[in-house]
Amino acid sequence: PYEVLVVGGGPAGASAAIYAARKGIRTGIVAERFGGQVLDTMSIENFISVKSTEGPKLAASLEEHVKEYNIDIMNLQRAKNLEKNDLFELELENGAVLKSKSVIVSTGARWRNVGVPGEQEFKNKGVAYCPHCDGPLFEGKDVAVIGGGNSGIEAAIDLAGIVNHVTVLEFMPELKADEVLQKRLYSLPNVTVVKNVQTKEITGTDSVNGITYIDRETEEEHHVELAGVFVQIGLVPNTDWLDGFVERNRMGEIMVDKSGATTVPGLFAAGDCTDGPYNQIIISMGSGANASLAAFDYLIRN
Ligand code: FAD
Repeated sequence: PYEVLVVGGGPAGASAAIYAARKGIRTGIVAERFGGQVLDTMSIENFISVKSTEGPKLAASLEEHVKEYNIDIMNLQRAKNLEKNDLFELELENGAVLKSKSVIVSTGARWRNVGVPGEQEFKNKGVAYCPHCDGPLFEGKDVAVIGGGNSGIEAAIDLAGIVNHVTVLEFMPELKADEVLQKRLYSLPNVTVVKNVQTKEITGTDSVNGITYIDRETEEEHHVELAGVFVQIGLVPNTDWLDGFVERNRMGEIMVDKSGATTVPGLFAAGDCTDGPYNQIIISMGSGANASLAAFDYLIRN
């Protein structure tokens, strides 16, 4: 059996695996797609000490670094189920069962898509999901934020300080964000909020040039010219396969303590799949290292 089995090959998983292997313990890593969300990212400018890089490049160096160590890499394998008897038993989609004394889940998350024409076509060409990452690319331009919940309104406030103008589109007749965020939003001069509207299409040629939405009351169609659209309708953690095994919050995020420990002894979690407050590469890596050190601590005590 493994001593540490990492499930997920993004920044959190890569970091957890390396920290475990450096303790000289038997380590394995299972990943559906090694690199994770980083593979879908164009430019990365906030991975501190690396001024600027591209997602696929960073993903390749993650893998290269993991390969420096004696780590069993099981790429293109999807975990299906986890059980604990004497040991943890991780069942893969292909039927194999892997055994381990401890497990670190780092299966990440995915942005919820709005599912309108133009969204897939213009991903990374004006359609963005992360204001901390991509906000500065739209400096001085006009953008829209889809979603009037906390993350949408936080994004709009954040972007308003960088871009020329922000249009917020909310499906419901009222914003769902906290009162204090709404107050701050409405105090800004370069933000327009439109409520009770349904996004119909993100338009563009080479990149985004506008957004079309329908007023749900009048059924009138409107078009706004802009350079970017931030989709902020939630992040879905990849944790369904753990349903009933470990405690998750309302959003499906795995609940962890300061060391990354979950409600199941010997089971740790790190990165975007947890209830940590912020989702970034550098934070995921830190949280993977944290969980891995905690797993080592658990192993020497058990
Ligand atoms: P992920 O990167 O999501 O990795 C999860 C891993 O688990 C993957 O290998 C996946 O294949 C695997 N997996 C999932 N389910 C299973 C399963 N059942 N079995 C086996 N494996 C599974 N952050 C920044 O700091 N800077 C940026 O500029 C930036 N830009 C971004 C741009 C985009 C378009 C996106 C989508 C995100 C961006 N982020 C950025 C956020 C950053 O990518 C994430 O916070 C980070 O990748 C999270 O790392 P993670 O390891 O927790 O999860």
